[in-house]
Amino acid sequence: MHSFSDIYGNALLLRHLQQAVAGGRVSHAYLLTGSAGSGKRLIADTFAKTLQCEESGTEPCGHCKSCSAFDSGNHPDIVYVRPTKKTLGVDDVREQILEDVSLKQYRYRYKIYIVEQADTMTVQAQNALLKTLEEPPAYAVFLLLAENQTAFLPTILSRTVTLHIRPLPDTMVADYLEKKKGLSPADSAVYAAYAQGSIGQALDLLEDESFQQMRQEILEKLMALPQAKKGEVFLWAKDLEKYKDDLRFLDMMQLWYRDLLYAKRLRSEKDLIQKDKKAEIFRSAVESEGELARKAALIQRARVQLARNANFRLTMEVMLLQLKEN
Ligand SMILES: [Zn+2]
Repeated sequence: MHSFSDIYGNALLLRHLQQAVAGGRVSHAYLLTGSAGSGKRLIADTFAKTLQCEESGTEPCGHCKSCSAFDSGNHPDIVYVRPTKKTLGVDDVREQILEDVSLKQYRYRYKIYIVEQADTMTVQAQNALLKTLEEPPAYAVFLLLAENQTAFLPTILSRTVTLHIRPLPDTMVADYLEKKKGLSPADSAVYAAYAQGSIGQALDLLEDESFQQMRQEILEKLMALPQAKKGEVFLWAKDLEKYKDDLRFLDMMQLWYRDLLYAKRLRSEKDLIQKDKKAEIFRSAVESEGELARKAALIQRARVQLARNANFRLTMEVMLLQLKEN
């Protein structure tokens, strides 16, 4: 548990952190940015555990007093800071950081603050923290975790080493699901396709029954669409209103036509993403490549129109009728 070598992707970023440990060039403040589920907390935890490890290696040893304390979830010199309301306010910063940081570490090498959702820090809170970042105690290390860096004052950014966690290739997410979660290669590829390069998001999807139901329903209806009567198409458009705030169904539709196109063009299942539906895909890939590409584009156009506040039901009706044409 918690070793750099077990973390998927972002090799350069991880090497940077490990080299900082090895060379004794650890900064007082890091800003780790990445989308939800990208591994900010995992990377911060692994870095903190390594910094505190009594073996002083570039990986946590896993058995010293510090590593054991970490594993028990109760490390005295690693402090987690979280917003108590929607934002991380000046009171949070004062109570959870400033009043604490003047006290020396309890027994380990550093005193590490892992600040979650740091991009919710108010300007006041950032200014309060700034003084400490400008003159940090020798033992203090701050790891700020955020989805983006635009929320930070330039003065904060100039005091921190910013490291961006990048999305992983789908194949790497799929590999994780196969090896660590025991999913079949077909299922792994499907979940990876919807996870936007994030193992965390893939794991959320695995638990998300509504996602699986939605996918089942959308694919069944798409397969039936060529034979559907006009009245049924209108009913489906009406029914889709339940997904008005969850446009993942459009991703599912696009992926469907994408796979039909690949099935038609290459006649091989190797490049299909939805390998769990390969029989259905080959059965449905009857139209020309041009026609399938046009249909995938129709879905994209509907997405753009919805983003511009077009009427949802009307947009769906037009899109479905055009998808039905052949
Ligand atoms: Zn250790």
